[in-house]
Amino acid sequence: MEKNLHLETLCIQAGYTPGNGEPRQIPIIQSTTFKYATSEDMGKLFDLEASGYFYSRLQNPTCDAVAAKIAALEGGTAAMLTGSGQAANFFAMFNIASCGDHIVASSAIYGGSYNLLSVTMKRMGIDVTFVNPDCTEEELQAAFRPNTKLLFGETIANPALTVLDIEKFARVAHANGVPLFVDNTFATPVNCRPIEWGADIVTHSTTKYMDGHASAVGGCIVDSGKFDWTKYPDKFPGLCTPDDSYHGVTYTERFGIEGAFITKCTVQLMRDLGSIQSPQSAFILNLGLESLPFRMKQHCANAQKIAEFLQGNEKVAWVKYCGLKGDKYYDLAQKYMPNGSCGVISFGLQGGRSAAETFMKHLKLGSIETHVADSRTCCLHPASSTHRQMTDEELDAAGVGADLIRLSCGLEDAGDLIADLQQAIAQV
Ligand SMILES: *Cc1c(COP(=O)(O)O)cnc(C)c1O
Repeated sequence: MEKNLHLETLCIQAGYTPGNGEPRQIPIIQSTTFKYATSEDMGKLFDLEASGYFYSRLQNPTCDAVAAKIAALEGGTAAMLTGSGQAANFFAMFNIASCGDHIVASSAIYGGSYNLLSVTMKRMGIDVTFVNPDCTEEELQAAFRPNTKLLFGETIANPALTVLDIEKFARVAHANGVPLFVDNTFATPVNCRPIEWGADIVTHSTTKYMDGHASAVGGCIVDSGKFDWTKYPDKFPGLCTPDDSYHGVTYTERFGIEGAFITKCTVQLMRDLGSIQSPQSAFILNLGLESLPFRMKQHCANAQKIAEFLQGNEKVAWVKYCGLKGDKYYDLAQKYMPNGSCGVISFGLQGGRSAAETFMKHLKLGSIETHVADSRTCCLHPASSTHRQMTDEELDAAGVGADLIRLSCGLEDAGDLIADLQQAIAQV
């Protein structure tokens, strides 16, 4: 694909270029397996000497085409799809962190990622230190240890809605000889391309805006191809020393720094753990990607209007949205996402928990869901649903106060949505 194409063009055309007489739309290759003339032909694939398909747990042409599109959107050199966003973050981190290693992560991240790090990866012997993303570089530096393998954060945190100072995080990661991983789910490459600000690995829950229609769960890992693993062979032996399970292939030698990370992640972790995205889901994801720039514009415009409406309503105690002047993250959002951030807002009503419950009951267009970031407006009151086992004190400590309402602004008409919010607030 030509360089310098605009994102709108890449969303439509990148990743798949049909030959003469081939389908215009990405075909769904609904096949577990692929045929070869000789065992020798197939043997070369197993030795990673030739590239090609043999079993869809490792690679499938539909999934690869969609991954290549996302790599182009993020400005990366290689990408792979996974069965979910959780699998993307786990595979990406586990690709370079093993038992005895350490990870530094922002404390303002998705609850699933927080649990993955603090519970499940801890059980695997991988230790984590959480840092407040608004800390100084010195405080961030203090979290690093000799065995730290990566730094992790979210462009816009779900649900805290903090904005990550990507350049600050990248500087400290690189000063310690480790890559910065950024989960870019909420911003999408339409609004922010973390690689341009120094991120090395970008992950996504494609379940959210990329799919955008609440149709298919999925994830993606993108490699910037910029982090030079070979400068730190002792830190990243899995990439820089021979892999016995592939007759001694050294990933950085065979695939270069632009291909080593994704190749290793595919042929080791997908091979052994098998969290693939189905070709059907990848096809649905690709339909979402085609309209992503247009949908993000509408999500952001709706969120901006709704945030401003809420801010002006006397029954609303507070509103968090980085597009609002005066929001704690307004300046960072202007720097990293000048064209818009995302469609998710959080707010609290005067009257706290019970006011939130009353409000939620009376919404007509907005539906109650744990989901965010799809075409339909949806709303969640964590204290009475996802977080209901927690006390008010525990909720405050987690940054999810008893009054917090998370609103994911969909693609409906902003006026209709505001009228719905207005009548529900009037019931409080
Ligand atoms: C939803 C989400 C995930 C997890 O993705 P799934 O597709 O639900 O597994 C990870 N990170 C962020 C920021 C998310 O919003």
